[in-house]
Amino acid sequence: MSNYSEITSIAHLILKKYDLCDHCLGRLFSKQLHLSSNKLLGRKLKQGFISTTKCYVCKNLFYNLDHFLKLMLESSSNYIFKTYGVGIVIKPSIVDRDDFLRSKYQLKGIDSVKTDIAKELMKSFTKKTTKIMDPIDPEITFTVNMKDESCQLRSKPITVSGRYVKSERGYTQKQTSCDNCSGKGCRVCNFHGISEFTSVEGIISKLIFKKFGGTTTKFTWIGGEDKSSLVLGSGRPFFVKINNPSKRNPKLNDEKFDYLSIFHLKLVNESPKKPLNFHSKIKIKISTVSQIDSKHLKKLKDLISTPIFIYEKSGKRHEKKIFNLKYKKNSMNQFTLIITAEGGLPVKRFITGDDVSPNISTLFNTPCVAQKFDFLDILVK
Ligand SMILES: [Zn+2]
Ligand SMILES: [Zn+2]
Repeated sequence: MSNYSEITSIAHLILKKYDLCDHCLGRLFSKQLHLSSNKLLGRKLKQGFISTTKCYVCKNLFYNLDHFLKLMLESSSNYIFKTYGVGIVIKPSIVDRDDFLRSKYQLKGIDSVKTDIAKELMKSFTKKTTKIMDPIDPEITFTVNMKDESCQLRSKPITVSGRYVKSERGYTQKQTSCDNCSGKGCRVCNFHGISEFTSVEGIISKLIFKKFGGTTTKFTWIGGEDKSSLVLGSGRPFFVKINNPSKRNPKLNDEKFDYLSIFHLKLVNESPKKPLNFHSKIKIKISTVSQIDSKHLKKLKDLISTPIFIYEKSGKRHEKKIFNLKYKKNSMNQFTLIITAEGGLPVKRFITGDDVSPNISTLFNTPCVAQKFDFLDILVK
């Protein structure tokens, strides 16, 4: 009990010079006494003292937290979540007075006024909503600004993986960004960064926004295709990160839209950090300027397991392998090639010979061009 009476005398010493609210007074000693309620301790220590001015440290901020709780409730009313965290912005003068008092009376190992305000807010928010406070990795983070009386909310991004099959030609894989904001998100595009939803990216994004809410999406594609390409078989895998989602666990089904089918949608931890290894089975319709010589056709088989070198403008060189190859002559100037190749082989350049070696045009000794190419399947290794 000597500890308590010692504390009482320090508390009274402080109170004689500085009027403190129950919270701020209790906070200075609650840890020492292993008590959880600063307010109750403060009230007890203050017995016999009557406040005549606002609290020296917080200017009675602790008695106005309901206003900020209301801001938190309002800003999160459209979000479905389980866990949350709170960050606080307060006037530096409050922090300064808190520091001054703690150092003057050599009070160590206690919560700062800022920490305590955050704790009080979280206590009330949890009581009101039954949401769980998670300071490490919350789904929703509130930044409560007590200087300008605002509350901002940040929702942790979600990543979804899936596959798509594109069964009609004439649609691009990627959506062009909103003209007004170049993809950052603005009022014109409803903060989505895209204002049309016609491409593969657009259609998937639209579905994602419907399921998860959110502002912008960021795609990681496992390979790419042309506007005129089909994507068949089990489809092309993709990852999509959803920024600022308002729903976190919607029911995900396979979906079909005009030319696009979307399969195997599921939540994942994050998009792959490194490019994934994958193989593409590609059907390419090739036309030649000179007539096709069958001895050249036979030489196609030599491409299997020969490294195909690709030279980039940057000076970088990389190589891709072809694992399997079949061909069929359709006419004097046209044949179909079906290859299974390492993902990322630039198909059109491989045919024309544009900084790719070996290539089809050189092999046939005549300019060749890929009229169209389709992905029959994509296998992730
Ligand atoms: Zn106070
Ligand atoms: Zn925009």
